Amino acid sequence: MANYPLHCLNKDGTLLNAQKSYYSDEYAERMCNLHLRDEVHKDDRGNMHKYFRLHAHNPHTIEMALQYEIHCPECNQGILKQVGRCLNFNELGLYVCPVCDKHRTHR
Ligand SMILES: [Zn+2]
Repeated sequence: MANYPLHCLNKDGTLLNAQKSYYSDEYAERMCNLHLRDEVHKDDRGNMHKYFRLHAHNPHTIEMALQYEIHCPECNQGILKQVGRCLNFNELGLYVCPVCDKHRTHR
């Protein structure tokens, strides 16, 4: 499992670029305001799908969490799509990359 610190690309701080790191999850949590962690889940047909969970250092409301547009750290083309709700104020939505996920399903 990897984590991906997020960097703002615009001045509103809503457009985010993710970069793979070799930090421990604990370090990423302390050092980054926002980071993604990957999770792999199997669907009903046994296909593996990669998801990203958004983690925030500062507490976020659902509305705050929804404003982000995050570039996929794997392909840098896709914009991550939210597929799961926020768990709490720090563990936010679950995301999937439509571009990467499409390649994976058709393989
Ligand atoms: Zn992607």
